[in-house]
Amino acid sequence: MEAAIIAEVTAEPGLRILGTEEKKTMRRYRIAAIPADGIGPEVIDAGLEVLDALAGRVGFALDVDRYDWGSARYRRTGAMMPDDGVTQLRGADAIYFGAVGAPDIPDAITLWGLRLAIAQGMDQFANIRPTRILPGVASPLRDVAPADLDWLIIRENSEGEYAGQGGRSHRGFPEEVATEVAIFTRAGVERIMRYAFAEAQRRPAKHLTVVTKSNAQRYGLVLWDEVATLVARDYPDVIWDKELVDAMTVRMVRRPASIDTVVATNLHADILTDLAAALAGSIGVAPTANIDPSRRFPSMFEPIHGSAFDITGKGIANPVGALWTASLMLEHLGEHEAAAVLMAAIEQVCAAGIVTPDLGGRATTREVARAVADALRGVNRPGG
Ligand code: ATP
Repeated sequence: MEAAIIAEVTAEPGLRILGTEEKKTMRRYRIAAIPADGIGPEVIDAGLEVLDALAGRVGFALDVDRYDWGSARYRRTGAMMPDDGVTQLRGADAIYFGAVGAPDIPDAITLWGLRLAIAQGMDQFANIRPTRILPGVASPLRDVAPADLDWLIIRENSEGEYAGQGGRSHRGFPEEVATEVAIFTRAGVERIMRYAFAEAQRRPAKHLTVVTKSNAQRYGLVLWDEVATLVARDYPDVIWDKELVDAMTVRMVRRPASIDTVVATNLHADILTDLAAALAGSIGVAPTANIDPSRRFPSMFEPIHGSAFDITGKGIANPVGALWTASLMLEHLGEHEAAAVLMAAIEQVCAAGIVTPDLGGRATTREVARAVADALRGVNRPGG
């Protein structure tokens, strides 16, 4: 793979430099960066370096506030973030999040104390996860061409199995009981269905698969199906079908080209998107966005992967998930051209074989970030 490192990045996605007058009228965005745990800081640093290369060259600037929230803070203070953390973030235009989780702290504390507290506290009810096979990345699926796997998976992000309802009684006694209650509200299901149908409508295939499990889960998931049928009437140009979640895993592997846009519950989509990321080549390239479509609150953008303790500090974390995530963030901010140019630069660097070991390459996190930043600056760079 030595060739991977010496591959050349052409100047194609390079952006012109703005003049002084143009700089005065720049659009400014306040970004709250929360790198948090594990490889989070490594990939967020890579993302900020690349965003810095972009900003100033197109008509926007970013003011980045960095928050030290996460597991280290929990060890120091007993809380992942301050009590008024969600309020502090309200002034941001977007949140750029790394990863959360530590080997010595239960996930229930780290996840609920930070990521879920922000996502639910800001009613970011639509979690979107685009999945594609990037150029130069091999899917573990035999005979699958990039055009066969181009999905947008939409996860309900505010209730369902992760509504946080339940409890434990008779703690420590043999008769101990624990409940984990999945909550499906008509309003909650309807808003995610409307969001999913609208997203499907925007894509060329105009096709939506509603993932369900209403054969076994006879209340919440039956409501889920009923609401899908009602909402579908308002989107007559969207072709839609229903798939049981277990059958969906088989379809993703056997017939990926039959899938376009997908909507699933909080838990189902959590699992399906890890599978999707693996089928697209690596969990390290997958992005996600937690969206509040009403824009009352800032939305949160993060790579799909977690803390990945096994590679933390080694400098080999794949930053592509965080970079693609940055492109989603720019898209959400309305910077469509910058988002597209960033995506083109990422694809160019992947195609040139400048990739980290999880994709079979030998580049480091920083080398990949630098290659993308150089491509954005229009610098020809003989890699490495
Ligand atoms: P969590 O429990 O917080 O979801 P985790 O560390 O158990 O996180 P993931 O982060 O999802 O699990 O990753 C699983 C494995 O995939 C990691 O242990 C790591 O080897 C690999 N991995 C994840 N992200 C990356 C990345 N960005 N670059 C390279 N390898 C990665």
